[in-house]
Amino acid sequence: MNLILLGAPGAGKGTQAEVICNTLHIPAISTGNILREAIKNETALGMEAKSYMDGGKLVPDEIVINILKERLQQDDCQNGFILDGFPRTVPQAEALDQMNIRIDRVIDIEVPDEKITARLSGRRVCESCGASYHTMYKPSKEEGVCDACGGKTVQRKDDHPDTVKERLRVYHEQTEPLIDYYTKTGKLVVVEGQEEVADTTALTLKAVEA
Ligand code: AMP
Repeated sequence: MNLILLGAPGAGKGTQAEVICNTLHIPAISTGNILREAIKNETALGMEAKSYMDGGKLVPDEIVINILKERLQQDDCQNGFILDGFPRTVPQAEALDQMNIRIDRVIDIEVPDEKITARLSGRRVCESCGASYHTMYKPSKEEGVCDACGGKTVQRKDDHPDTVKERLRVYHEQTEPLIDYYTKTGKLVVVEGQEEVADTTALTLKAVEA
């Protein structure tokens, strides 16, 4: 099964991608994670992407399309995949179509902007393993320390309030048109993000199986 997860930054795509990945045993591909890894490793790609990401802007289409093309050619994608954070613009969706890859379903996780702002401002991620926490909804046992690996948990630079505002503006302007794009293909299923992550997960799995 080849799936796309759509939704604003902070709508919970990453969490849902992980659940589907564990349920269907297909890889979750996050262009954001690939780019963050490149920044951590100080590669040329990372250097180029960093200023866009820190400012809440999208990395240019050409760069992310190439990243995705390469990633989809790897063996683990041959039985299916979940795209988390790609496509984010209509040209990216068109590029995916041109790769001749069948998309079975597009799941749009909808969460109002006010909730997103509250969620992202409290989000903390582990610098070492990438595990995600929230100061209110999912605190680590010891503040600042990852439960999973003992690494340091920090606020992502792009989760600072001003950057979140910009990311949401960019989402509405450049990514939201994809809802129309995929509605026209008849593959879009909307999932209303719930207060409890488990409730959203139940709806997402239902959408996958529908
Ligand atoms: P994410 O972790 O998916 O929220 O992505 C973090 C940041 O990486 C975004 O705010 C963008 O700057 C960049 N990024 C990730 N995926 C894409 C994409 N498909 N197109 C453009 N920029 C992206």
